[in-house]
Amino acid sequence: MTLTASAPVSAAVNAASKRIFNFSAGPGVLPDEVLRQIQADVWDIAGSGIGILEHSHRGKVVDRVWEEAERDCREVGNIPANYKVLFLTGGATSQNHMVPMNLFPKGGQWKTADYIISGYWAQKSFDEGKKLLPGLGGEAHVAATSEDRNHCYIPDKFNFSANPAYVHWTSNNTIFGTEWPSEPPIPEGVVSVCDASSDIYSRPIDVTKYGLIYAGAQKNLGPAGCTVVIIREDLLERCPKDVPTMLQYRVHAKDGSRHNTPPVFAVYATGLVFKWIKSQGGLAAMQKRNQEKAAIIYDVLDSSKFYRGHADKAARSLMNITFRTLSEQLDEQFVKEAKAAGLDGLKGHRSTGGMRASTYNAFPRAGCEALAQFMRDFERKHG
Ligand code: PMP
Repeated sequence: MTLTASAPVSAAVNAASKRIFNFSAGPGVLPDEVLRQIQADVWDIAGSGIGILEHSHRGKVVDRVWEEAERDCREVGNIPANYKVLFLTGGATSQNHMVPMNLFPKGGQWKTADYIISGYWAQKSFDEGKKLLPGLGGEAHVAATSEDRNHCYIPDKFNFSANPAYVHWTSNNTIFGTEWPSEPPIPEGVVSVCDASSDIYSRPIDVTKYGLIYAGAQKNLGPAGCTVVIIREDLLERCPKDVPTMLQYRVHAKDGSRHNTPPVFAVYATGLVFKWIKSQGGLAAMQKRNQEKAAIIYDVLDSSKFYRGHADKAARSLMNITFRTLSEQLDEQFVKEAKAAGLDGLKGHRSTGGMRASTYNAFPRAGCEALAQFMRDFERKHG
């Protein structure tokens, strides 16, 4: 059985892999080395005679996959022993209800949970908090927002509530292309909850500053289907026992992320990406590479009157680079011609329009160079 071929692969391909450059915002590009390993392991993993898609989640092979994925995740992120690493399902979006259900016990000492609205996904998190918290005797409070200028900057004025159960924020705004240069000034002792879906492990992180970090794997860590949650141990006990079993972090922590049949393949592939990050020199090396890659594209924006970036310079994301040309018509033309030239996935999200180049960890530098060249050529032709 074969899938029907779409357009033939263009000439402007990644010379090493013979694949085109994939700027998709997620699911996004995976490292070549990881994909090659997956190809082999789908047939037969670790000489077991059975492929990774077919192994029991209670068997020895998956035991080892689990141990290594957690060990490597901890090593890469320098995660202290008093934090649990969980591999869950439901995507980052499911954390929008799991966070309040676990960290905002009804009848507890808290009356508010704070949200920083720095973009589209942060807004979604707030909306879910606003829906759930009243039923728990609380209220979702906006501690800061950048909505007034269509989220082109990182909020810099804060109005935290007196005693919030947690402050929820989003470290990289995938759609608007902005990223926090450092953590927001969350009051001492307040639990910081971070949606790091689109920049986790793209730079060093000090986990001790967080109560909970979560990320859908499908951008920087692996395929869709695995959601990584890093949670400080003491927070596991905040969750009321009457919360549905599958929605309690405590249960997943106790059962090692195997309370029921987990997304074995997604966790296995995410584990390979942790190994790949280690082999590349870890998070400091990732950061250096990501800075260099993004600069190749931002340099074109800065030296042109034809292109306009969405994000203020100080708020620019290293992961998602958002920009426009002089008109919507030219934007469309840009995306079309780029695709024909082997540069795929550049259409911006419908809420921002224009273009978005996602340059996650596994995205190759050669792809950034190819896009920069394409941008210059396109400007010459249409500017
Ligand atoms: N948060 C952020 C920052 C995202 O970029 C995304 C997905 N693009 C989500 C949340 C939602 O993730 P999921 O589709 O895994 O629920």
